[in-house]
Order: sequence, then structure tokens, then C-alpha cells
Amino acid sequence: MARILLVVALIGIVVVYLWRRRRAAAASASTVSQTEAADAPPPLLPGPRASLLEQHVRLWRRLPAPLQERLLPRLDEFLERILFTGAHDFQVTETMRTVIAAQACIVTLGHDDYPFDDLHGITVHPDEFVVEEADEDEDTGVVTEGYRTLSGQAHGSDRLVLSWRDVEEAQSREDGYNVVVHEVTHFLEHSHPGGDPAAHAALTAAYESLCAAVDRGEETLLDPYGAEDLTEFLAVAAEFFFERSADLAARHPTLYVLLRDSFRLDPASWAPTAVGKASS
Ligand SMILES: [Zn+2]
Repeated sequence: MARILLVVALIGIVVVYLWRRRRAAAASASTVSQTEAADAPPPLLPGPRASLLEQHVRLWRRLPAPLQERLLPRLDEFLERILFTGAHDFQVTETMRTVIAAQACIVTLGHDDYPFDDLHGITVHPDEFVVEEADEDEDTGVVTEGYRTLSGQAHGSDRLVLSWRDVEEAQSREDGYNVVVHEVTHFLEHSHPGGDPAAHAALTAAYESLCAAVDRGEETLLDPYGAEDLTEFLAVAAEFFFERSADLAARHPTLYVLLRDSFRLDPASWAPTAVGKASS
């Protein structure tokens, strides 16, 4: 299956993408009350799976009915094919699998084909997890070894690793944070490279603009972590594209259109964000 999903082709191969801790920075983010959740539109599709999604997946509640219909068979296929493993005997429940799988599939709904052929499995940790890491200084060649605490990780196009606590918390906040969207974007970029030079140039320009704003110490809509490199910029921008669609469209219209054309989805036109019950 060679269909190109993302228009962005990045130079070089990065095998492991890391997601660093962001919970502390997001602590002041707004949490919306249950009252507002009551304003969410009613479920459009009957059935236990739809009601589980209605209860636990904010992006599902925003989806137009045709996209909800498109999601369900893809979600079934994903759950059938992808093996979920709990780290250190962590019990991954049906709800957890569904919440993770639904968000992964929503990212890909603009494209007809099932895009997860290369994904072998998802490992779920109860909370953030620690990985060993070795950094080589490009100038001196000195390798520094250490540890990093992560909320998510994408091993190329083979395996995703997620902190359930971070997956869950993203459902009750409106700060643009979504570790599933972030890691799935890395996966798609790695497994479906391609795209045209104009799109790549536009993405690079948006990335450099964020870097410049961060260097000037300005408050930015996009998380400054996106200034890390172009790959992280794309993943962070994708999070805001889905989680804070209207804000991204208003503040960065060119970037929004670039992502809209790439994902073939227009989330700014979906129902407004309504934060509901946190999943459990
Ligand atoms: Zn990343």
C-alpha cells in the first residue's frame, strides 16, 4: 500500500521519535466542566462502541456524521490487527484500546486506505516511562548517555509506546496536547513519506517562524517544543490542527491549509471542542 498520506517528506531517517514530558507546562490549561459536556451533541450512531466513543473520545464527539460512519469499520480493523501490550503487567482494557485506536484512526480518516499495515503493536504504560538515551555531540563526537522521561514514543513505523495517563488527560483539557495524534503523525510521516517541494517549503517556513518567535521569547500558540526540529514541529502542529483547529486556522492560516490538504480533513469546520468526562 503505497498511498502517500502526508505531503511532507523530511530529509534523513529518524528511527525513534521521542515525546518529552509536557504535563507540568500544561497544568494551567483550561479544564472544562461537566456542564459544558452536557452541551455536546448526542450520539449519532447507536451501539456500545459508539456510546463508549461518545463518552471517552472528544474528537469523536466533534466528527461530522459521515466521518463517524467511516471511522467505525476502520476502528474495527485496527483493533483486530494491532496488538496492545501493557508494560510491566499493566492491564490494557477494552476502553483503553478503543480510546487509543479511535484517535489514531481519526487522524487518517481523510484517506480511503487503511494506513497501519506497518504498525505491529502499541505498548501502553500506566504513566510516563523512562528510556535510556545516548546523545552524540556533532562537533566533538562526545556521546552523553542518560535517561529521559517520556509520555509517548514512536519506533519508526513499527511500534508506538504511550503513557495511558497522558492519553487520558488529553481528553479533559483544551491545550492542544494529544499524545496519540503526536505519535501517529510521526508514524505516518515515517511510513508514508512523500509530498511536493512546495508543501515542504511551506512547512519549513512555518517551522522557522516558530523558531524565531521562541528565540524572541514570544508567547506562541504552538507548543515551543515544536521548535526542536522539523519532525517535532509537524507532530506538534498536527496536535493543534486536531485539538485547537479554529485557533490554528485563525492564527496560522497557511499552516492550517497545508495540514488540511495533507490530512484531507477540515477539523475547523467540525463541531466546536467540547471537553467531556475523562475516560477511566
Ligand atoms: Zn515527537
